[in-house]
Amino acid sequence: MKCFHCQAKLQRGLTTFTDSKNGYVIMLHDVPAWVCPQCGESLFDNASVRGIQEVVRSLDEGVEKLRRAA
Ligand SMILES: [Zn+2]
Repeated sequence: MKCFHCQAKLQRGLTTFTDSKNGYVIMLHDVPAWVCPQCGESLFDNASVRGIQEVVRSLDEGVEKLRRAA
């Protein structure tokens, strides 16, 4: 698999996922991904995407519950 930006060969590694939504900021360190050794671009594989979605879903549920409690 090659980097979209610089065409270097991607390597397995860990990266940080960040997103801001639904009134919170999420930052997950050490998420398995394909990482470009040249420019640092990273690409999440399907397993990581599913894992991230699961984390976000449970966060959303927790946030909903918290707001309802207010
Ligand atoms: Zn690259």
